[in-house]
Order: sequence, then C-alpha cells, then structure tokens
Amino acid sequence: MSFEYAPAPESRAVVDIKPSYGLFVGGEMVDPVDGGSFKTVSPATEEVLAEVAVAGPADVDRAVKAARSAYERTWSTMPPRERGKYLFRIARLVQERARELAVLESLDNGKPIRESRDVDIPLVAAHFFYHAGWADKLAYAGMGPDPRPLGVAAQVIPWNFPLLMLAWKIAPALAAGNTVVLKPAETTPLTALLFAEICGQADLPPGVVNILTGMGETGRALVEHPDVDKVAFTGSTAVGKAIARSVAGTRKKATLELGGKAANVVFDDAPIDQAVEGIVNGIFFNQGHVCCAGSRLLVQESVADALLDSLKRRLATLRMGDPLDKNTDIGAINSAEQLRKIRDLSDVGEAEGAERWSAACDLPSKGFWFPPTLFTGVSQAHRIAREEIFGPVLSVLTFRTPAEAVEKANNTPFGLSAGVWTEKGSRILWMANRLRAGVVWANTFNRFDPTSPFGGYKESGYGREGGRHGLSAYLEASDEQPRTTQPAGRGGAQ
Ligand code: NDP
Repeated sequence: MSFEYAPAPESRAVVDIKPSYGLFVGGEMVDPVDGGSFKTVSPATEEVLAEVAVAGPADVDRAVKAARSAYERTWSTMPPRERGKYLFRIARLVQERARELAVLESLDNGKPIRESRDVDIPLVAAHFFYHAGWADKLAYAGMGPDPRPLGVAAQVIPWNFPLLMLAWKIAPALAAGNTVVLKPAETTPLTALLFAEICGQADLPPGVVNILTGMGETGRALVEHPDVDKVAFTGSTAVGKAIARSVAGTRKKATLELGGKAANVVFDDAPIDQAVEGIVNGIFFNQGHVCCAGSRLLVQESVADALLDSLKRRLATLRMGDPLDKNTDIGAINSAEQLRKIRDLSDVGEAEGAERWSAACDLPSKGFWFPPTLFTGVSQAHRIAREEIFGPVLSVLTFRTPAEAVEKANNTPFGLSAGVWTEKGSRILWMANRLRAGVVWANTFNRFDPTSPFGGYKESGYGREGGRHGLSAYLEASDEQPRTTQPAGRGGAQ
C-alpha cells in the first residue's frame, strides 16, 4: 500500500534571484566585454529564472589576469593559517545560507530539495571545512616539507551537482594557495553566482575566485588560456579527451573526472531489502545524473527474480514531481537535451532486444521528466550496458559465479565506481581487489566524504579529488622528505 502525501513545498521566498547577472571578476560583478547572454530555466517548469552573461575570450583573459595578480600579490604569499581562516569563513557562510543555496540549486537544477538540503549543501560546507584545516598543514600532505601551489587554476564543472562540484574544485585549490577561474555549466549557473556573493561576504581578496558563466566555448577558451597553470575538469568523456589533447605538451597540470558505467553487484547472500535501497540510491538518486551511478545491476541468477520483484515494488512508491516539495524523491531531468539523450538511448535498448519496465507515474505536463526505468534481458553488447545514459535508467544483467561478476563488471571502458552487496567480508575484499574502479562501495552506494579520494581509471579520467590525494593535484612537491617537527608551511607564521 502506498500513502498519499499532501504537498509540502519549501518556500521560494528565501532566494532573491536577480533578473540578470554579470561575471565575477577581480572581486566584482562586471558586464562581459565581448560575450553575450543566455537564459537559465527551471527544468521542472521551463520558467525563465534569470538572464546570465556569456564570457568571451576577452573576459577569459581579464579573469585569468585577475587570478594571476591575486595569486602573486596576496594569496600565495599570505600566511597559510590566514588562508585557512577565509575557507572557514566561507564554510560557515555556506551553512548560514544553506536553505537559500538548497532552494536555488533545486530551482536551477531540478533536483529534489531533500537532496540539495540534506546531501549537496552539507557536503559543500564539509569540503570547505575540511580543506580549511589543511591550509596550514600542507607540509604533512606527503608532498615534501614545503609544497608549493601551482598558480592559476582553470576549473570547468558540470550541471549534476553544481555547487558541490564547485566546492570540490575551489576548496582544495584555495587551501593549497592557488587562485581560480571557474566556469559553471550552462544550465546551472545560479548557485555559483550566489557563491560569488559569499566570497564577497567572506572578504576574500579580489581575484582569488573568479566565476565566468557561458557555454562550452567559454570553457574551451579558459582551459586553453596560456597563462593557466592547472586545469581541473568534470564532465563528459568526449570533452575530457579534447581537454587532454589541448593541454598535452604544455606545462599545465590536468585532472579529469569523467563518466562512468558502474556495476552494482548483488550476491545471493545479500539482505535483499537493504540491497534494493542501495540499488535505488545507486541509480535513481539525483535522477541518475551521477557520474558514479550504479547504472549496471549485476545480480546473482538465483536471486534475480526475487530481487527484481522487490525492486519494482519499491520503484512504484517513489514520488516524482515538484523538486521543491519535501516529499519528492525524483525531480526533473536537467535539460531538454539530456532528456532527449535518455529517451534515445532507452529506445535503442528496446530496439536491441532488452525489455523495458517503467514505474507508473503521472509526469507533469511542463518541464523535463523521465520515469524510473529498468531494462531486463540486457546483454553485454547492448549500448545501454556500455554507454553512460546519465538518467534514471538501470540495466540489469545476471551472473552465476564471483569470477563471472568480476569479468562482467570490468567489461567497460570506464572505471569510476562499483558496489558489492554480500554478507561475506572476505568476498567484499576479494571483489574489491579485482574490480577496476576508483571507488568500491560495500553494502552501500553513493557515499561521499571530503576526506576520501575520488576518481577513476581508463575513460573515467585521471587524478583524484578529495582527501590528501586531491590536494596533491594542486601542489608542486618539494624534493625533501616531510619533516616530523612542526610544519613551517609556505609563508611561515604558523
Ligand atoms: P560536457 O562535458 O559538455 O560539460 C561539462 C562542462 O564542460 C560544462 O561546463 C560545459 O559547458 C563545459 N564544456 C563543454 N565543452 C567544452 C570544451 N570544449 N572545453 C571546455 N569546456 C567545455 O557535458 P554535457 O553537459 O554536454 O553533458 C553531456 C553528457 O556528458 C551527459 O549526457 C552525460 O552523459 C555526460 N556528463 C557526465 C558528467 C560526469 O560527471 N561524468 C557530468 C556531466 C555530463 P556548457 O555546460 O556550457 O556546455
């Protein structure tokens, strides 16, 4: 039996969306020199939320110059402990303005408020708190006693976790003493622009953080700018490969966090109800717009029917609709373009012979929506088993032995994450040693923590974000071994 829920919408009154936004350069909002503008819409209603500036090449140049000047004059020479104070201040402001940030994120991205409120924004604050603590302890980061920042970082982020990806990029860069120019995704610029306001509120020195909105061309101009020292990108494998080519042979250091096609492997001894929750969280969290989503369910043949029955029953109870309603489980697809891609690949799944099942639900008449869907009878050769759909679509495959599970799980060009469900600890370790994935979750899925490095193998990219490993992507090692006495850190004044 499923319950009817009365609507419980979060108030929009808490956010003040301006009719139009400029670019955040050198500590101020400025009009673009040679760009134009575009409209950002709510994917749940198609309502225009604001007009946002497009940064052209001259704007990119201006922002990189502002970041360079801030790097040389203030940020890299500031005592590390002082840098840390700014990051603590930002973290506290994110917490203070959490409700506003969560509502704005849900409006612009389409994700349910429960996710932005309980997952995204708390993790954003956690990333700034965590990295604030590192700022004066870099001598213990495993990069020698006096690791140096790289300089100006060009950072390009996607639309699935807009503010969280910003935090993943900006917090370690700043803690390590770099300055940044960041480009948010075209469809989700608003929380980055609110973050610009928070930088002002925190009195962050002008030019330490610069935010350029725009399209793919803005991102390309930014990563190709000759005065950039470091490129950090999260997004599609295709764009990641283009960026890898553009930085090859230059002095720029790059980290790329790209797509995934994670296997979520359920053994016959796993507690079924718990596994079902993990599968739902693995692929239907954030409408499946998750690079590490558990989009391939590998279930041991003997329990496949029972598990699928349970899973379908559970999917039928998911509530889809208004992202600002606190009861909503599944929000809107982020854009018309992404919806088209999900529909096209799902149609290919059927055309190639897999069987489609979707939870019965009323889709709102406006906006971009796709019901939770699973495919059975999927074979390894099917495109829905190989390509990233980046939507609420699960491909189900079966296996008989652990060795077959490993072989199927690793049969992908990606290698970002994987999940294992079993009561046997020894089997978890056996599997984790064999799965070619940057993150392996055991009896859980989609868990994130700023202290834990995250990143992939193969076409999922290279470099790690989070933890000590993530910091090293923003530092140049000094040659000596780390000291065991108090760290001096760059700039002294501990
Ligand atoms: P993209 O990789 O195109 O976008 C990611 C970011 O890169 C955006 O800010 C984008 O700007 C920017 N960008 C686009 N082209 C360039 C370029 N040539 N040089 C530098 N930056 C660029 O992803 P899409 O949003 O187009 O999504 C396409 C597919 O990618 C999805 O369907 C999904 O499968 C996958 N994807 C994977 C993600 C992941 O985390 N693994 C995240 C997002 C998408 P703009 O938004 O303005 O185009």
